[in-house]
Amino acid sequence: MASLSSFPRQVLIIGSGVGGLSTAIILAKLGFKVTVLEKNGQAGGVMRSYTRDGIECPVGIHYLGSLDQGQILRKFFDYLGVSVTIPVARMGENGIIDRYLFDGVGDHPASFDLPQGMDALAERLKQTFPDECEKINKIVAPIRKAADQLHALDLLYATANDFALLDQSQPLGEILDDLHCSPGLRSVLAIPACWIGVPLNDCPAYYHNMALASYVSSSYRLQGSGAEMADALVDRLQELGGRIVTGAEISKIHVSSRVVTGLQLKSGESLTASTVIGAVHPKVVLQMLPEGAVKPSYRQRISGLEDTHGIFSVHASLDGASHPEIPYNIFKIDRDHDGNVRDLKYYQIRKSEREGVSLLSILTSGKDELWAFAEHTKSGRRGNDYLEAKEQHASQLIGEAEELFGSFKGLKVLDAYTPLTMRDWVNSPGGSAYGVLRSSSQTLSTALLNRTSVKGLYLAGQNVMAPGVIGTIMGSFSTVKLILGADEFGKVVRL
Ligand SMILES: Cc1cc2nc3c(=O)[nH]c(=O)nc-3n(C[C@H](O)[C@H](O)[C@H](O)COP(=O)(O)OP(=O)(O)OC[C@H]3O[C@@H](n4cnc5c(N)ncnc54)[C@H](O)[C@@H]3O)c2cc1C
Repeated sequence: MASLSSFPRQVLIIGSGVGGLSTAIILAKLGFKVTVLEKNGQAGGVMRSYTRDGIECPVGIHYLGSLDQGQILRKFFDYLGVSVTIPVARMGENGIIDRYLFDGVGDHPASFDLPQGMDALAERLKQTFPDECEKINKIVAPIRKAADQLHALDLLYATANDFALLDQSQPLGEILDDLHCSPGLRSVLAIPACWIGVPLNDCPAYYHNMALASYVSSSYRLQGSGAEMADALVDRLQELGGRIVTGAEISKIHVSSRVVTGLQLKSGESLTASTVIGAVHPKVVLQMLPEGAVKPSYRQRISGLEDTHGIFSVHASLDGASHPEIPYNIFKIDRDHDGNVRDLKYYQIRKSEREGVSLLSILTSGKDELWAFAEHTKSGRRGNDYLEAKEQHASQLIGEAEELFGSFKGLKVLDAYTPLTMRDWVNSPGGSAYGVLRSSSQTLSTALLNRTSVKGLYLAGQNVMAPGVIGTIMGSFSTVKLILGADEFGKVVRL
């Protein structure tokens, strides 16, 4: 049995998103010497918010699930040592985490309020669909099980086979078909799958159930900004002796006889290491590898992976007195006759850093086709046509939002971003928001994505297990488990 002292001590990590930073903190806690290399001027990836008009505009953190004592994210934050330095505010105190407002075909229900707690969820579903109580029992039972498995960290500590627990692999859409659920019930249950970018008919039930369970268990918003969350993780890493270098874009991974030997920066500088972790999309890692470093079958599998779609988002400031903070999220859903979601828009109105000013954030599907004309131009130089198209799309979304919230007072559009922004900012292939599509059709090709056939080279980040802060940090622990070996991990990493 290997002892910890025989594990590699020097680790280089590519990318400082929540995946790279959390992996770095875990390894630094275990005594590894860790350096995180980030291409951007600031750490944090999509977790980091950006400032417009003195207001922090969120990108990748709108709310967080499962931060109650004993729940999965709280256990992760406690282990990382950031529970105190990332202050959060509880949602759902008024009985609502998310308000779903339905549009389009079908008139039942016109709305649905997602409550906090599994019992409350079952009860609200039964009140809304009184003729479908039996079906609801069958649907909620595996969601409860998913919650128990999540909080017990079964996916990390199962020694035999991590995936043996994923026994709900049938697509949720098929399960709902088999149960003959009404279109209304189907449309309510479709939202979590849609929100994480997977079509219901191709969304493994466990994936949907874990996403829903993670938020229904408890939901929180950051009290500060995404930038503050990123800084808290960086501070913690540095406190543990880890290093972070920003403005350090990696262009190549050096490999000799299928063993990793180091990295090359775009600047030409080379770094030596026997352990490298790519906390970026697997396709990005693949591009960094020399020809012949991996088998053609691996190259084919990774380059053929389908990714989730991009996101378009707009931020606007509003008069705070007329538009106070709304303590829950609002989703506007366009559904078809069968209860399938055609389109989804997400709204959040929050107090901003500026006295008397609120921030409206809208997120929706990136509509990649809208930006195709600007696709091949360079970041930041996409021309007036692109800027106009972006402005037009933003105004249309604000107009639609006014139909829901009434005419906005003191409105000022602060910024909008497209999938191209995401593509260039964090190097996400095609501007994908949640990375690799975790669909039933891709179950095999997305399994064990943190392993590579290059000795000493591992992957981390949202692509290795699941997106979201929980899924990404779970991926970080699973990559550390792979580096240490399951037995050693079980002994030295106690959550
Ligand atoms: C719009 C949006 C909203 C979201 N909302 C939520 C939410 O409310 N709650 C939630 O839990 N999750 C949410 N998520 C998901 C969550 O934010 C992500 O799953 C998670 O932050 C991904 O982290 P990561 O470390 O895998 O990737 P990233 O944050 O993309 O980090 C990758 C890092 O690698 C760097 N990099 C790339 N290439 C190189 C290179 N060659 N050299 C050096 N560095 C490089 C990038 O610059 C980046 O900093 C949202 C995501 C998006 C896009």
